[in-house]
Amino acid sequence: MGQAPARSVLVTGGNRGIGLATARRFARAGDRVTVTYRGAEPPASEGLLAVRCDVTDSQQVDQAFKEAEAAHGPVTVLVANAGATHDRLLVRMSEEDFTSVVDTNLTGAFRVARRAMRGMLREGHGRIVLISSTAALHGAAGQTNYAAAKAGLVGFARSLTHELGPRDITCNVVAPGLTETDMSRALTEEQRRDLLRQTPAGRLARPEEVADVVAFLAGAGYVRGAVIPVDGGAGLGH
Ligand code: NDP
Repeated sequence: MGQAPARSVLVTGGNRGIGLATARRFARAGDRVTVTYRGAEPPASEGLLAVRCDVTDSQQVDQAFKEAEAAHGPVTVLVANAGATHDRLLVRMSEEDFTSVVDTNLTGAFRVARRAMRGMLREGHGRIVLISSTAALHGAAGQTNYAAAKAGLVGFARSLTHELGPRDITCNVVAPGLTETDMSRALTEEQRRDLLRQTPAGRLARPEEVADVVAFLAGAGYVRGAVIPVDGGAGLGH
């Protein structure tokens, strides 16, 4: 059997954490990978095409896709990974705390998925993976904004699945539990201990373990509108 043809993959927030691990996973498999970054560029000599893009800005999203398409052809695998938290108890949460988190995590995914759809419909093929969180499934104190945005991705993926019908374009959700990245390093020791007590695996996920599931979904044609937790058993599959 010959090697699978290289795909044009775009990973948002691919300069670090889960996004970078995912980009490396695809690049290792021989795909042509574009990563978007907002602040710092990804580490050099990774073989990744790095383009600057803030997912809260539709024009920057469009420009990032143009650059990816020019270098690698139409994007047929999109990983909407860029995300951010701004934790506060609801009584202290400003409207800006809420809307900015929704704008990045949910509306950002909408912007990139909508832009990706053009090429995917033309190609008649596509895989979209949205990076949500177990906070979407179980909730988390201080994260009404983040959990609402991440839960929104589930309704988004399932509605898009209905829209796409029999086309060979899929949209699925990966919901990581606590993962060893900059984001989880912001937790206190006590928060970390509490979370680990509820996790049968007894440790945090490694970014590469989330990337494995994203890569699986990018190859799976008959998994659609699914939510796959990668949480060390914390939700026992839910
Ligand atoms: P990091 O904080 O390490 O990375 C976040 C990435 O998102 C960075 O690349 C960041 O870019 C990018 N980003 C944030 N805001 C924007 C924006 N407005 N436009 C473009 N890019 C943006 O986090 P993780 O790797 O941990 O998180 C990746 C995804 O996984 C996120 O969606 C997160 O919510 C989710 N997740 C993470 C968990 C964890 O425990 N780590 C658990 C569950 C879900 P920049 O470098 O420029 O800031």
